[in-house]
Amino acid sequence: MIDQQIKAVIRDIRDFPKPGIIFKDITPILKEPPLCNDIVDAFIEQLGDTRVDVVAGVESRGFLFGLTLANKLSVPFVPVRKAGKLPYTIKQKVYELEYGTATIEVHTDAFEPGQRILIHDDLLATGGTVCAASDLIQEMGGIIAGFSFVVGLNFLNGKERITPISDNIIVLAE
Ligand code: AMP
Repeated sequence: MIDQQIKAVIRDIRDFPKPGIIFKDITPILKEPPLCNDIVDAFIEQLGDTRVDVVAGVESRGFLFGLTLANKLSVPFVPVRKAGKLPYTIKQKVYELEYGTATIEVHTDAFEPGQRILIHDDLLATGGTVCAASDLIQEMGGIIAGFSFVVGLNFLNGKERITPISDNIIVLAE
């Protein structure tokens, strides 16, 4: 099963990037091309007949499988980036972190109003980041088709937080 394969490969790094955090390092997955392919195939299978016009990947690890997924679905990929990285005109969203705020940005011509956007990231923790991405995309006229993640940390209740936006939530390993 894909969830067992993912769990067997990712590694827990204690106290990274700060004390008390157990960081789920997905980089070992990237050393295994068959598993990378299986992950993208699993997303496609679980999407079923969900209509996706665009995949939006959240910087930076959301780019890893997000672009491949978009390519395989034959739809455009949109990078959702941290402040100051995108060169063209942007729309931004400031959102709350545990301490302070963060900003994400999307190019203003990234997609058309009314398009159905799948938001993708490597990992669902509290859901704060993808909530902010959803807000930004919806403010730009996009419709949230669903969410996809390689890994989910259930104890942080991210699913509960994002279900009101879309209950089409794919988490391959939790
Ligand atoms: P959140 O907004 O709380 O859902 O956090 C999700 C974002 O933070 C994702 O882009 C993850 O890559 C990253 N992240 C949060 N917690 C972890 C963790 N324990 N291990 C790895 N990445 C994490």
